[in-house]
Amino acid sequence: MQIRLSNTVNNLVESATIKMAQMARDFKSKGHDVISLSLGEPDFDTPGFIIDAAHEAMKSGYTHYTPVPGLVEFREAIVKKLKRDNNLDYDINQIVVSNGAKQCIYNIAQALLDKGDEVVIFAPYWVSYSAIVELTGAKVIGLNSEVQDDYKVTADQLKNALSDKTKFILFSSPCNPTGSVYTKEELGTFAKILEGYPDVLVVSDEIYEYIVFEGEHQSIAQFEQVKHRTIVVNGMSKGFAMTGWRLGYMAAPLPIAKACAKIQGQVTSGATSFGQKAAAIALLTESNEKAKMKAIFKNRRDLMLELMNGIPHMLLNIPNGAFYLFPDVSSAYGKSLNGKSINNSQDLAEALLSEEFVATVAGASFGNDNCIRISYATSENQLIEAAKRIRRFFEKLK
Ligand code: PMP
Ligand code: GLU
Repeated sequence: MQIRLSNTVNNLVESATIKMAQMARDFKSKGHDVISLSLGEPDFDTPGFIIDAAHEAMKSGYTHYTPVPGLVEFREAIVKKLKRDNNLDYDINQIVVSNGAKQCIYNIAQALLDKGDEVVIFAPYWVSYSAIVELTGAKVIGLNSEVQDDYKVTADQLKNALSDKTKFILFSSPCNPTGSVYTKEELGTFAKILEGYPDVLVVSDEIYEYIVFEGEHQSIAQFEQVKHRTIVVNGMSKGFAMTGWRLGYMAAPLPIAKACAKIQGQVTSGATSFGQKAAAIALLTESNEKAKMKAIFKNRRDLMLELMNGIPHMLLNIPNGAFYLFPDVSSAYGKSLNGKSINNSQDLAEALLSEEFVATVAGASFGNDNCIRISYATSENQLIEAAKRIRRFFEKLK
């Protein structure tokens, strides 16, 4: 029998972050001493009080289906959180909880996009944005930015990209993969530009909200011009070290929230019940766990910047959030190592893995082939050893 897969899946690119994390595991299982700086997930375990809350929830009957858009307690907690942390006002019916922020973005794309529509995405962007948009037949309009501009898109770039085909703009701040954080002023200028495009929606991915080192996280949803047409995406994975729980949420204009719940009702029926109960407690409990994790990430960022200093071919911005470095390594292209020539970010990431057993992710999949992504969500000892290997690798290039 010949199995014929759909054109949809044949045309879908594999997630580069997940692929590279798997390659690292494969190398490890063959006995190599791999340091994986590929997957973007906190290395911390979920704080104990959240795990205890999930146990309690299971024991007290939270083992059934929840309403499709989410458990009432969790959605109420999200509404409170959005008011408390972001000064944003939402009704519980505007909140939809999904299996990770990834599914929120998927739901949004499915709810809004048709073939021929355009989505303006700030690049470098998280790998799944383009794949999720392209699955619908819509077109990605990427706005490039480079290391010397702290990987920030300008208001003029945004203005030039918008058209009557634009359905929404999509970006993350803090940004995966660059760690860049847009300021209130910068977001305000985007909002002003959007005033002239009243039918364009904004999808603001704020999943790294709690990992900002200097200044405060800002949401574009605070601006009058775009308040009523912004979809805020957030989740438990990064700030609370809950990646495996698969819990994300969005706050959206009511028709969009309803459309996303309708899709979800046919696809997953919603997220795990006891996880949602525990996540509600996580959002509402005062605890210094988030701050502790953030302080550790900041120390690691500073350590990495110091360790990377002076490595040939590596140009860096100073990331103000998340837990990634996104160095421009393009001056190494054209060089080679042990007969293998390095002409792009994929060649470089693969050579670094096979030569020095350090797993990173090629920048091409984030929309910038000049770069590689290094996740520093791992212990200081691992980072020190990884930096040694990375330096040796670049010094060996001829
Ligand atoms: N957005 C960004 C920018 C991310 O880096 C991630 C990481 N996985 C997600 C969304 C999705 O997170 P999750 O599905 O784990 O909530
Ligand atoms: N967001 C993380 C990353 O960028 C997790 C993997 C994924 O979902 O892409 O590595």
